[in-house]
Amino acid sequence: MPGYELWGTEERKELNDVLQNGILMRYGFDGPRKGVWKAKELEQAICKTFGSKYAQLTSSGTSALTTAMAALGIGYGDEIIMPTFTFVASFECVLSVGAIPVLVDVDDTLTLNPDAVKKAITPKTKAVMPVHMCGSMADVDALLSICKEHNLILLEDACQSIGASYKGKFLGTIGDAGTFSFDFVKIITCGEGGAVMTNKEDVYTKCDGYSDHGHDHKGNDRGAEAHPFIGYNYRISELHAAVGLAQIKRLNEFLGIQKKNHAQLKQILSAIPEISFRRIPDPTGDSCTFLSWFLPSEEITRAVVNEMKAQNILAGNFYWYDNNWHYIRKWDHLKNSITLNALHPELKAQVIHHSTKDFTASDAVLSRCISTAISLLWTEEQIKEKGAKMVAVVKNILNRTSVTT
Ligand SMILES: *Cc1c(COP(=O)(O)O)cnc(C)c1O
Repeated sequence: MPGYELWGTEERKELNDVLQNGILMRYGFDGPRKGVWKAKELEQAICKTFGSKYAQLTSSGTSALTTAMAALGIGYGDEIIMPTFTFVASFECVLSVGAIPVLVDVDDTLTLNPDAVKKAITPKTKAVMPVHMCGSMADVDALLSICKEHNLILLEDACQSIGASYKGKFLGTIGDAGTFSFDFVKIITCGEGGAVMTNKEDVYTKCDGYSDHGHDHKGNDRGAEAHPFIGYNYRISELHAAVGLAQIKRLNEFLGIQKKNHAQLKQILSAIPEISFRRIPDPTGDSCTFLSWFLPSEEITRAVVNEMKAQNILAGNFYWYDNNWHYIRKWDHLKNSITLNALHPELKAQVIHHSTKDFTASDAVLSRCISTAISLLWTEEQIKEKGAKMVAVVKNILNRTSVTT
């Protein structure tokens, strides 16, 4: 999955350009930087690579989402519909702008169930935020039509799905805005970094200002720039942008390796009829960072996970149902609304409300799901070996359970 696996001379070269001048900041210092503008260059590369009209780099995927929400006018009293299966950052951002996260069920796409979205719409709903989890996509057309019918914003959290596409359009460029993360374990990395993409000029201009203290970035005297609105510092540094610039040039190489390795492993696991795979709304658009597969029951899945652990082959396989970062079941800090500072009592009540909601539909999917991370470093031989071991474990457990039941 992650670009860090193939760190090399390209990354060092881009970094060295910055180190030569020592101008680590993305704005200003026009003379001393001697024409080195890594953040600007990376923004242009993002626009060109993904077909987005505008791109704003930020310090992380989390700050990209926060910036996008602010620029889209999401704030006090607004309800944002989002999935139960995501990374904690998705709801953190909603709370950070004072809006209300409304978590709803996922289906066998491992992303928002469109029917669950429809049921959650209220007069306060402002946006739907699909999270394109594990390298692949939500049912984008269904969500777009819901948003159109109810006049809602579509904000795509594509942080984990850089380079994946839906019907020929890159994820993150389809909605009103979309975000990428370039943290250390994402498909391409800056070390830390993120981006907002949008085709709307006003949304972009707001992102540009919001991520830099509200600066309007007009003229070439930073100290004289006006502040049309209040912003924050979510800037990326030139060092981080330099790494990203090297990595984005290698994206196709990474995707090619992932697709090849993914196909080989999928073919091996397909030999077992009891294994089914994640539903992918547009299979050609899968970035193939993970192979996500289902077993017939939670009991069997747990037994397989335990056996893989016992045989030391669990590394790189994720059982999200028990995971602290990605699934609502373990998010006690959210369900109890544990924050360091006081939330508005109404918001707090709505956050705590999640502890009493019924997510059995999500449980039924996640409790049977294992995602295998696809490495860029595997050889064909290693995949064969890995696949054979996984098949042996699954067959063994299936035989055992059919004997005991
Ligand atoms: C990684 C990630 C983020 C946040 O990105 P950071 O750069 O780590 O802040 C947001 N959403 C999802 C789904 C992610 O996987």
